[in-house]
Amino acid sequence: MKYALVTGGSRGIGRAIAIRLAQTGLPVVINYVSNEAAAAETKNEIEQAGGQAELLKFDVSKPEETERALGEWEDSHPDDYIGVLVNNAGIRRDNLMIFMQNSEWHSVVDTTLNGFFYTTRRLLKRMMTRRDGRIINISSLSGLKGLPGQANYSTAKAALIGATKALAQEVAPRRITVNAVAPGFIESDMTKDLNQDELKKLVPAGRFGKADEVAALVAFLAGGDAAYITAQTIGINGGLYS
Ligand code: NAP
Repeated sequence: MKYALVTGGSRGIGRAIAIRLAQTGLPVVINYVSNEAAAAETKNEIEQAGGQAELLKFDVSKPEETERALGEWEDSHPDDYIGVLVNNAGIRRDNLMIFMQNSEWHSVVDTTLNGFFYTTRRLLKRMMTRRDGRIINISSLSGLKGLPGQANYSTAKAALIGATKALAQEVAPRRITVNAVAPGFIESDMTKDLNQDELKKLVPAGRFGKADEVAALVAFLAGGDAAYITAQTIGINGGLYS
């Protein structure tokens, strides 16, 4: 059976993606790092709607932990594979570069960029064997445009776009697509400390986006109709910048 894995599927955009993918009939593996209650809530919501979901806790920034968790999942699912991988786990640690601590730089790069690498490398093996895969990397407008106060985050999200393009060319012959989605301002825990009333004036659409709007785009890229779309970065930002 083919599964979808959503890293950071416990909350926000990841939760909306997990729910959407489950609605398309895929059993979904919900990864998270610490928020047990939120992860259980996502799983419950999927099951209440008649879908299938399981939890898989691991810290994507830790290579051994990621390897162990995904290895154990594969051992307990010998006939299954993760055919849809959404690299969504991410954090913000904003600071002006002149004040930025090593820990602020490394934690953001380790989660977004290195987390993508550890998880994706591990899951490519079965996708390549099955000649089927969809990899969707959640980048950001910050990675396209660069945002002051986010040198760490803009770097990690821009690098993710580079990795998306390179990997897409490596695996296209095996019918695996790799794309990036670059959201602008989306309502979630990550943006709850921002001044939405002020910032939405910058957005031509006049509002922040909804997690479910990002999820709809991801679900399209994960589906059969998107088989010829690869190595792309698709913005979803209300016209803020493209
Ligand atoms: P969020 O509400 O803060 O949720 C973050 C998710 O990532 C949580 O599920 C969290 O798990 C998980 N996570 C964090 N560190 C992790 C780690 N080391 N290992 C595994 N999981 C980890 O964020 P969001 O707004 O939904 O953002 C989701 C993605 O979209 C991120 O990559 C973010 O950079 C990107 N994005 C967001 C926006 C926006 O405006 N919101 C815009 C552009 C891009 P726990 O629940 O266990 O903590």
